[in-house]
Amino acid sequence: VRIYNFSAGPATLPLPVLEEAQRELLDWAGSGTSVMEISHRSKAFLAVAREAEADLRELLAIPPEYKVLFLSGGATLQFASIPLNLVGPGDSVAYVNTGHWSDKALKEARRYATVTVAADAKDSNYTTIPEVASWQVDPAARYLHYTPNETIQGVEFPFIPDVPVPLVADMSSNILSAPLEVSRFGLIYAGAQKNIGPSGLTIVIVREDLLGRAQASLPSVMNYSLQAAEGSMLNTPATFPWYLAGRVFKWLKREGGLAAMGRNNAAKAALLYDYIDASGFYSNPVVPAYRSRMNVPFRLADAALEGLFASEAAAEGLRFLEGHRAVGGMRASLYNAMPIEGVHALIAFMKAFVVRHG
Ligand SMILES: *Cc1c(COP(=O)(O)O)cnc(C)c1O
Repeated sequence: VRIYNFSAGPATLPLPVLEEAQRELLDWAGSGTSVMEISHRSKAFLAVAREAEADLRELLAIPPEYKVLFLSGGATLQFASIPLNLVGPGDSVAYVNTGHWSDKALKEARRYATVTVAADAKDSNYTTIPEVASWQVDPAARYLHYTPNETIQGVEFPFIPDVPVPLVADMSSNILSAPLEVSRFGLIYAGAQKNIGPSGLTIVIVREDLLGRAQASLPSVMNYSLQAAEGSMLNTPATFPWYLAGRVFKWLKREGGLAAMGRNNAAKAALLYDYIDASGFYSNPVVPAYRSRMNVPFRLADAALEGLFASEAAAEGLRFLEGHRAVGGMRASLYNAMPIEGVHALIAFMKAFVVRHG
């Protein structure tokens, strides 16, 4: 039996997609082999790759002047690739720090560029987003980097900030969760393992005019211009994750696209936050306007019960509710593939747990 998997990542995938992959694992499209066992340069795989890109472009309505890259190395490699590709000698870059991942991104960027911190939410213990009007954005910065959804603290931007420099966004945990105005961004990137597919694949969407400044020492596989010219196949790409991501894109289209996802995700998150706020036992510290729809961290009134909470939940098929090791507590991740039934089941368990132990 399938559990309700609340993991932050690698995360739950749509069951119909897994079933499809299972059906064609041994004999893919009548080829007598799996998709994992064929050349990335074969006609058959190139068609898979191209179709995945076309479907992603359609889902996000990506304008033609953006390149879409299917890379490896996770979001973490992009923390370095982004400054190394976009920044020339002496250039500065601006970063907004709203939690664990934006802090990691800015620390890595410091190794390659002059970083100014335009805004920092650390003093709030990452429970809010500083007013954009108060951000100190260096108008000479090559870009401003921010993290629209902080996966660990559960803080999400409900808007796209208006700044005078190109926006770079780490959308690892909220890409494809609602319609997005891609044209507002210079670069969007996301590791696949939260809301796209299996780990091993990273998607980068970059406006062409930002390219061409790569430093000469940049490794070729990290060079966006070279990868774009080679169709993300400068070397062997992560073929199975690319294939599976393509299946997820088809599933998203069948389910009504990103508008439908946006409605579902808003409804799931509202259910859980409303219950947490009303419970008198569970709590979420984030300013309500900035609460994440994707990752819902919460604490119990008695922290000593958290281990018991996780083990009793697991026994009922509600798994991976432990918070990130950096912050503790509990966390329920509600990506596209989490059905609303999973949220109902979680809330029913939380209510019963209060009756037993509250
Ligand atoms: C998970 C996550 C990362 C790290 O991703 P890797 O693929 O492990 O490098 C970075 N940023 C955000 C927002 C994340 O959720």
